[in-house]
Amino acid sequence: MANTKPAKVYTVKDAKPAVLKNKTLAVIGYGSQGHAHALNLKDSGYKVVIGLYPKSKSIDVAKKQGFKVMSTSDAVKEADVIMIAAPDMKQPAIYKADIEPNLSKGKTLIFTHGLAIHSGLIKVPADVNVVMVAPKGPGHTVRSQFLEGKGVPALIAVQQGGKPAKEIALAWANGIGATRAGVIETSFKEETETDLFGEQAVLCGGVSALIKAGFETLVKAGYKPEMAYFECCHELKLIVDLIVQSGIAGMRFSISETAKYGDVTRGPRVVNDKTKKEMEKILKEIQSGKFTKEWVKEYEGGLKNYKKILAAEEKHPIEKVGQRLRSLMPWVAKQNIKGAQASYSAVVEKK
Ligand code: NAP
Repeated sequence: MANTKPAKVYTVKDAKPAVLKNKTLAVIGYGSQGHAHALNLKDSGYKVVIGLYPKSKSIDVAKKQGFKVMSTSDAVKEADVIMIAAPDMKQPAIYKADIEPNLSKGKTLIFTHGLAIHSGLIKVPADVNVVMVAPKGPGHTVRSQFLEGKGVPALIAVQQGGKPAKEIALAWANGIGATRAGVIETSFKEETETDLFGEQAVLCGGVSALIKAGFETLVKAGYKPEMAYFECCHELKLIVDLIVQSGIAGMRFSISETAKYGDVTRGPRVVNDKTKKEMEKILKEIQSGKFTKEWVKEYEGGLKNYKKILAAEEKHPIEKVGQRLRSLMPWVAKQNIKGAQASYSAVVEKK
């Protein structure tokens, strides 16, 4: 049943930043999301400590960026509010070993993605608040937008703890800059299922498959791989930027009449009823837990299939031609490096 009721959007005026004042906030993990949340919250005036495992490569980075770095257990003991920003598949083991034994009544545990809680991989005692603050963008963008006075929109959800827990989630979202853009309340179930579906069917899986299929079709028909790369990959960002700025209709305002006619008459032939049926199948696998079961099994089996597929994908001809063409546009390559290394370059710049 389609849900047509507009969702409430929380902005800066709805947050109560004081609920996190005089509290210790711990961020467990200092990767993409962890470093962004920690730095933004510190810049917003909160006391933040970092929890990491003994040999983590991020210990020095976090220290150089001004944080007290502790073992995960000590960080959980010291903190009132704890965000778990470690990889999803590692979270259950970290929780069992270092978080659960150090939780006590009234503490708040924050997730940035609902998977571990929704699929039951982590079960938290009822007297501990469980919430989610999930920015709708990569961690490095959460940091760079904050520094520019902007913000990445985020979702919040409350699994346990009611209104006080929701205020903590909203204050955290505010501290990372998300309320500047807008925060929407969801549930762990809705966030998990839509997030997995979006990345599998559209954002990562769907788009990569579409680009490769277009590239392969042109190359097979005898066109130069360079031409195929420009037409099916390089220009995608320009079109997506227009869509993000002003919607699909707005993008169509900027393209030629010929492009527009081809778009509306040919697009539905590429993504057709068969594609939609497959999307529905993918969604059902997510909703039934089949996907998570498969992913946990693959992870626990040493990621053999995952690594094999990724290695084969990296050898696709589009990667070689793309690398050569991007090297002719140093600004594109530089932006990529800057985006991926924002947290680390800040340290290097200081040296
Ligand atoms: P990530 O970049 O891979 O970083 C994970 C961090 O956890 C690293 O600092 C890692 O240490 C640390 N870590 C690994 N094992 C640990 C342990 N045993 N104890 C403590 N720390 C440990 O992860 P991420 O992509 O930010 O993902 C974190 C969470 O954010 C996930 O739930 C994910 O779904 C969610 N999320 C991510 C994004 C994104 O933009 N990537 C977007 C939305 C939500 P090292 O530094 O030593 O490797």
